[in-house]
Amino acid sequence: MTKTELIYLEDSYLKEAEVTVLEANAARNSVTLDGTIFYPEGGGQPSDKGRIDSALGSSTVIHVAKQGNQVYHYLEGPLPSKEEEVTLKLDWDRRYAHMRNHTAQHLLSRIIFDKYRARTAGNQVHADASHIDFAPATFQSDELPVIEAEANRLIQEDHLVTIAFIDRAELEKEMGPDRADLSRLPTSIKRLRMVRIGNFDAYPCAGTHVRSTGELKQLTITKRKSKGKERIRITYQLASL
Ligand SMILES: [Zn+2]
Repeated sequence: MTKTELIYLEDSYLKEAEVTVLEANAARNSVTLDGTIFYPEGGGQPSDKGRIDSALGSSTVIHVAKQGNQVYHYLEGPLPSKEEEVTLKLDWDRRYAHMRNHTAQHLLSRIIFDKYRARTAGNQVHADASHIDFAPATFQSDELPVIEAEANRLIQEDHLVTIAFIDRAELEKEMGPDRADLSRLPTSIKRLRMVRIGNFDAYPCAGTHVRSTGELKQLTITKRKSKGKERIRITYQLASL
């Protein structure tokens, strides 16, 4: 089966695209496409929503999931036909909020790693409040204003966020062993998508990001919660645009 081209990996700002239906599944009311701008749920980022316009009308994309080389778009409304050309339209406000929150996650993960050597153990991006779990971590609530101020300084300095595909060996050299446990990446993965924030951070990630930290506008840490022994959850929000 032909592979779905992940257009959002190359251009996260594309809001519409014309693509062709590879398969339509009537039982699940889902389609696979030769290319997609819809982000499938994964890596702590929710799937995109939006619409697919076809000859039969406009359908709502309610969920998007990646399985192997295929991306399944689950629809509410008419099911487009196999080999039909369709128009994809993202719910852009929701996606852009995810992009801003995801870049903010990388920023906070790096700040907290640099200050306390606390690794990111999990994260969940949302359009409004997002969270990151750090472990092992012991930093206290009185540290939060310092972390927040550092994040806002990096936001105000408006650092460019760039994407590059690099070899695994290069990544291992650039990252060092502490920031992330690269042994968790399957050895079959030889090329990785590196997301860089200025000269401040570099991290492999398949999520969608903004072009510069200025787009985050302002970050507020709203909560610190203990999630067990030496595990701390930080909840944050970005100022709306
Ligand atoms: Zn990421």
